[in-house]
This record gives sequence, C-alpha cells and structure tokens, in this order.
Amino acid sequence: MNRPKRMLVENVGWAAEMAASDPDFFETLAQGQSPTVLWIGCSDSRVPAETITHSKPGDLFVHRNIANLFSPTDDNMMSVLEYAVSVLKVDDVIVCGHYGCGGVRASLLPMSDALPHVNRRIAPLCALARAHSGELDAIGTLDSRIDRLAELSVLEQVRALRDTSIVRDAKRAPRVHGWIFGLRDGRIKVLSSGDSTDAEGEPLASSNDVAVPAPAPSAAQRVMEALGR
Ligand code: ZN
Repeated sequence: MNRPKRMLVENVGWAAEMAASDPDFFETLAQGQSPTVLWIGCSDSRVPAETITHSKPGDLFVHRNIANLFSPTDDNMMSVLEYAVSVLKVDDVIVCGHYGCGGVRASLLPMSDALPHVNRRIAPLCALARAHSGELDAIGTLDSRIDRLAELSVLEQVRALRDTSIVRDAKRAPRVHGWIFGLRDGRIKVLSSGDSTDAEGEPLASSNDVAVPAPAPSAAQRVMEALGR
C-alpha cells in the first residue's frame, strides 16, 4: 500500500479511536477553535508540533517553514501571526527550532544553484552566521556549529517577533518563547522563556527539568493488555 493510501486507512482508525474515547470530541471540534498557543516551527518531518508535545487538534495554531524563520516581510508568516494575536488572542507564541536542522546546515555550506527559493529563504541565516562568525568559527565541528547557530537563530526570531507592532501593540501581548528540540533524545530545551527580558541568555531549562506524567497506554498497548500479552 502506498503512503497516501495508508494515511487514509490510518485516518479511519484515528477518527474511530477519538470518537470512542470522547463521543463529543468531533462535535466540539466543529464548533470552532480557541488555541492558546501559536507554534512557529521547522517544516522538518521529524519535529511535528502536536506529536512531540502530546497536543490535540484544537490546541495549537501552527506555522512551519524551513528553519523556523520569522520574517516581517513574509505575508504568509505575518498573516498567521496577525490572526493568532488579534483574532485568536493566543497567550503564547513559541518559536521551536531543532538541532541537526538542514536549513541551518545549508546556511553554513556553499549555496546550491538548484535551490534558488531555499537560498533566498535562508539568506537571513547566512547573515546571522556572519554576525556570529567569531563564536561559530571557534567551535570545532560543523555539527556543533550548526546546533549553536540553530540556538542563535531561535533567539533572533524571538527578538524579531517581540519587535513587531502586532505583538508590541496587542492589548494583551502574548509571551514569546524560544525553544529547541533535540532529535537525539526528543527533549525540548528552553532558550528563552516568555519573559521578554531574557531573550539574550543561555539555555534556561529543558524538559528534563519538568515532572513527566506517566504516559497513557496507547490503544495498541490496551489491546495487547486485554489480550493478556
Ligand atoms: Zn529544520
């Protein structure tokens, strides 16, 4: 079965499972959305916002692009921010980068002529890398340079978001957070909390510092348990 077909089959199973666990779930979903978080993340397939935070449909308003870059000249990005802040009135905006980011890697390597759109998109990252060349050049390996630039970029996006009139002039300005996701352990590190005074700082905390609830058994686990396996 090809992937799209398998996705449709999985969707039938998912819809049935959701309805079985909460008969009002879809009725409530259809009535409208009131997410309290705008998530700005990387398009990378390994960093799905809802999955890595155990969020449900309706919890997150999401914008993803290559290397989770915020640009005030990008109407796609700005319309999402405007709607999230002015209409949905989200409490929090989270920029979540990730280590091992391909977009960040590309900004530290020679540009490929075959990818003009990507090149234009990551130009601000190249500029950021040049601005921090002293710190980055002192880092021994390319992978570590990529990871540090990914952190610096998250902090830069946080600063730029806080600087927009949409956020600044909002009646109740949302908190803007900077996070980074570790592909090796699945944990999120906090680079900047929602406090607008700490965007310059070092990593503040990680999800390692948070009490972790026991994971709920999956449907598959429950079936296996019922079968006594
Ligand atoms: Zn990425």
